[in-house]
Amino acid sequence: MYEETKKELLDICIQMLKNDLVIGSAGNASIRVDDHVVITPSSIHYSEMSSDDMVVLNLNGGVLEGSRNPSIEYKMHLELYNTREDAKAIVHTHSVYACAMAILNEPLPPIIDETVPKLGSEIRVSKYAMPGTKDLATNVREAMEDRSAALIGNHGAVCIAKTLKEALHLAILLERICKIYMIAKQVGTPAYLPEEVVEDEQDVWEMMRGY
Ligand SMILES: [Zn+2]
Repeated sequence: MYEETKKELLDICIQMLKNDLVIGSAGNASIRVDDHVVITPSSIHYSEMSSDDMVVLNLNGGVLEGSRNPSIEYKMHLELYNTREDAKAIVHTHSVYACAMAILNEPLPPIIDETVPKLGSEIRVSKYAMPGTKDLATNVREAMEDRSAALIGNHGAVCIAKTLKEALHLAILLERICKIYMIAKQVGTPAYLPEEVVEDEQDVWEMMRGY
Protein backbone atom coordinates (compact mmCIF):
# COMPACT_ATOMS: atom_id res chain seq x y z
CA MET A 1 0.00 0.00 0.00
CA TYR A 2 0.97 3.66 -0.52
CA GLU A 3 3.60 2.91 -3.17
CA GLU A 4 3.85 6.50 -4.46
CA THR A 5 3.98 7.88 -0.91
CA LYS A 6 6.85 5.53 -0.06
CA LYS A 7 8.78 6.72 -3.11
CA GLU A 8 8.20 10.34 -2.11
CA LEU A 9 9.44 9.56 1.40
CA LEU A 10 12.60 7.97 0.00
CA ASP A 11 13.17 11.02 -2.19
CA ILE A 12 12.91 13.29 0.88
CA CYS A 13 15.46 11.10 2.70
CA ILE A 14 17.90 11.47 -0.21
CA GLN A 15 17.35 15.24 -0.05
CA MET A 16 18.05 15.17 3.69
CA LEU A 17 21.34 13.42 2.95
CA LYS A 18 22.28 15.78 0.09
CA ASN A 19 21.55 18.82 2.23
CA ASP A 20 23.82 17.56 5.03
CA LEU A 21 20.94 17.28 7.47
CA VAL A 22 21.80 13.66 8.30
CA ILE A 23 24.52 11.08 7.78
CA GLY A 24 24.28 7.29 7.51
CA SER A 25 20.95 6.16 8.89
CA ALA A 26 20.54 9.02 11.38
CA GLY A 27 17.34 11.04 11.55
CA ASN A 28 14.03 9.92 10.09
CA ALA A 29 10.94 11.12 8.29
CA SER A 30 7.30 10.20 7.97
CA ILE A 31 4.02 11.21 6.40
CA ARG A 32 0.47 10.77 7.61
CA VAL A 33 -2.11 9.31 5.22
CA ASP A 34 -5.57 9.38 6.83
CA ASP A 35 -5.21 7.26 9.97
CA HIS A 36 -1.96 5.65 8.86
CA VAL A 37 1.67 6.76 9.03
CA VAL A 38 4.33 5.83 6.50
CA ILE A 39 7.72 6.05 8.23
CA THR A 40 11.36 5.34 7.45
CA PRO A 41 12.86 2.07 8.76
CA SER A 42 15.38 1.81 11.59
CA SER A 43 19.14 1.41 11.00
CA ILE A 44 19.24 1.37 7.20
CA HIS A 45 21.59 3.82 5.48
CA TYR A 46 19.68 6.21 3.27
CA SER A 47 22.03 5.43 0.39
CA GLU A 48 20.93 1.77 0.59
CA MET A 49 17.27 2.35 1.41
CA SER A 50 14.51 1.43 -1.02
CA SER A 51 10.86 2.44 -0.95
CA ASP A 52 10.01 -1.17 -0.01
CA ASP A 53 11.85 -0.65 3.31
CA MET A 54 9.28 1.94 4.46
CA VAL A 55 6.94 0.85 7.27
CA VAL A 56 3.21 1.57 7.54
CA LEU A 57 1.87 2.09 11.08
CA ASN A 58 -1.50 2.87 12.56
CA LEU A 59 -1.73 5.80 14.98
CA ASN A 60 -1.16 3.47 17.96
CA GLY A 61 2.14 2.21 16.58
CA GLY A 62 0.86 -1.12 15.26
CA VAL A 63 2.72 -2.27 12.13
CA LEU A 64 0.32 -2.69 9.20
CA GLU A 65 2.91 -3.31 6.53
CA GLY A 66 6.69 -3.65 6.22
CA SER A 67 9.37 -6.19 6.95
CA ARG A 68 11.66 -3.69 8.70
CA ASN A 69 11.42 -2.17 12.15
CA PRO A 70 10.05 1.38 12.11
CA SER A 71 12.40 4.24 12.98
CA ILE A 72 13.40 4.23 16.66
CA GLU A 73 11.67 7.63 17.01
CA TYR A 74 8.27 6.40 15.85
CA LYS A 75 6.78 7.34 19.25
CA MET A 76 7.74 10.97 18.69
CA HIS A 77 6.15 10.93 15.23
CA LEU A 78 2.94 9.39 16.57
CA GLU A 79 2.82 11.81 19.51
CA LEU A 80 2.92 14.74 17.09
CA TYR A 81 0.38 13.25 14.66
CA ASN A 82 -1.96 12.42 17.53
CA THR A 83 -1.81 15.91 19.08
CA ARG A 84 -1.23 18.30 16.18
CA GLU A 85 -3.74 18.66 13.40
CA ASP A 86 -1.23 20.68 11.41
CA ALA A 87 1.23 17.76 11.41
CA LYS A 88 0.86 15.85 8.16
CA ALA A 89 4.55 15.23 7.61
CA ILE A 90 7.59 15.13 9.90
CA VAL A 91 11.31 15.48 9.20
CA HIS A 92 13.76 14.78 12.03
CA THR A 93 17.40 15.70 11.42
CA HIS A 94 20.78 15.66 13.14
CA SER A 95 22.10 18.71 11.28
CA VAL A 96 25.28 20.31 12.62
CA TYR A 97 24.19 23.80 13.69
CA ALA A 98 20.80 22.70 15.02
CA CYS A 99 22.59 20.03 17.09
CA ALA A 100 25.08 22.63 18.34
CA MET A 101 22.18 24.79 19.54
CA ALA A 102 20.52 21.74 21.13
CA ILE A 103 23.77 20.97 22.98
CA LEU A 104 24.00 24.54 24.26
CA ASN A 105 20.46 23.98 25.50
CA GLU A 106 19.70 27.46 24.23
CA PRO A 107 16.54 28.37 22.33
CA LEU A 108 16.89 29.95 18.90
CA PRO A 109 15.55 33.51 19.23
CA PRO A 110 13.48 35.20 16.52
CA ILE A 111 16.16 37.01 14.54
CA ILE A 112 15.19 37.01 10.86
CA ASP A 113 11.83 38.05 9.41
CA GLU A 114 11.42 35.21 6.95
CA THR A 115 11.53 32.49 9.57
CA VAL A 116 8.95 33.45 12.21
CA PRO A 117 5.85 33.05 9.98
CA LYS A 118 7.11 29.62 8.93
CA LEU A 119 8.66 28.16 12.08
CA GLY A 120 7.03 30.28 14.77
CA SER A 121 8.74 32.58 17.28
CA GLU A 122 11.56 31.42 19.58
CA ILE A 123 12.41 27.79 18.76
CA ARG A 124 12.69 25.90 22.04
CA VAL A 125 14.98 23.05 23.03
CA SER A 126 13.17 20.02 24.43
CA LYS A 127 14.19 18.70 27.83
CA TYR A 128 16.68 15.85 27.45
CA ALA A 129 15.39 12.29 27.19
CA MET A 130 16.90 9.09 25.79
CA PRO A 131 16.33 8.50 22.06
CA GLY A 132 13.32 6.38 21.22
CA THR A 133 11.54 6.92 24.54
CA LYS A 134 8.02 8.10 25.29
CA ASP A 135 9.63 10.85 27.42
CA LEU A 136 11.43 12.19 24.38
CA ALA A 137 8.12 12.19 22.49
CA THR A 138 6.37 14.08 25.31
CA ASN A 139 9.19 16.59 25.73
CA VAL A 140 9.31 17.32 22.00
CA ARG A 141 5.54 17.79 21.84
CA GLU A 142 5.76 20.30 24.71
CA ALA A 143 8.69 22.19 23.16
CA MET A 144 6.86 22.43 19.85
CA GLU A 145 3.70 24.05 21.20
CA ASP A 146 2.64 26.86 18.80
CA ARG A 147 5.67 26.20 16.62
CA SER A 148 6.46 24.15 13.53
CA ALA A 149 9.90 23.16 14.81
CA ALA A 150 11.78 22.20 17.94
CA LEU A 151 15.37 21.51 18.83
CA ILE A 152 15.75 18.19 20.66
CA GLY A 153 18.00 18.38 23.74
CA ASN A 154 21.51 16.99 23.00
CA HIS A 155 20.14 15.32 19.91
CA GLY A 156 18.86 17.22 16.86
CA ALA A 157 15.85 18.97 15.39
CA VAL A 158 12.35 18.17 14.17
CA CYS A 159 9.94 20.01 11.87
CA ILE A 160 6.30 19.42 11.07
CA ALA A 161 4.38 20.62 8.02
CA LYS A 162 1.46 19.77 5.82
CA THR A 163 3.63 18.05 3.19
CA LEU A 164 6.98 16.26 3.23
CA LYS A 165 8.50 18.81 0.86
CA GLU A 166 7.52 21.63 3.20
CA ALA A 167 8.81 19.77 6.27
CA LEU A 168 12.14 19.31 4.48
CA HIS A 169 12.21 22.98 3.54
CA LEU A 170 11.59 23.95 7.19
CA ALA A 171 14.44 21.67 8.32
CA ILE A 172 16.79 23.37 5.83
CA LEU A 173 15.57 26.79 6.94
CA LEU A 174 16.03 25.93 10.63
CA GLU A 175 19.57 24.70 10.03
CA ARG A 176 20.39 27.86 8.08
CA ILE A 177 19.05 30.15 10.77
CA CYS A 178 20.90 28.26 13.54
CA LYS A 179 24.09 28.71 11.49
CA ILE A 180 23.48 32.43 10.96
CA TYR A 181 22.78 32.91 14.67
CA MET A 182 25.92 31.10 15.78
CA ILE A 183 28.09 33.00 13.31
CA ALA A 184 26.61 36.31 14.50
CA LYS A 185 27.18 35.31 18.14
CA GLN A 186 30.84 34.67 17.47
CA VAL A 187 31.52 38.20 16.31
CA GLY A 188 29.08 40.22 18.38
CA THR A 189 25.75 40.39 20.13
CA PRO A 190 22.84 39.47 17.82
CA ALA A 191 19.91 41.91 17.78
CA TYR A 192 16.51 40.24 18.06
CA LEU A 193 13.50 41.30 16.02
CA PRO A 194 11.33 43.93 17.75
CA GLU A 195 8.76 42.32 20.03
CA GLU A 196 5.72 43.75 18.22
CA VAL A 197 7.04 42.46 14.90
CA VAL A 198 7.49 38.98 16.39
CA GLU A 199 3.91 39.08 17.70
CA ASP A 200 2.57 40.03 14.23
CA GLU A 201 4.67 37.36 12.56
CA GLN A 202 3.58 34.76 15.11
CA ASP A 203 -0.02 35.68 14.20
CA VAL A 204 0.83 34.92 10.58
CA TRP A 205 2.21 31.55 11.71
CA GLU A 206 -1.02 30.93 13.62
CA MET A 207 -3.05 31.70 10.49
CA MET A 208 -0.91 29.58 8.20
CA ARG A 209 0.27 27.04 10.79
CA GLY A 210 3.70 27.08 9.19
CA TYR A 211 2.68 25.90 5.75
ZN1 LIG B 1 17.50 11.35 16.12
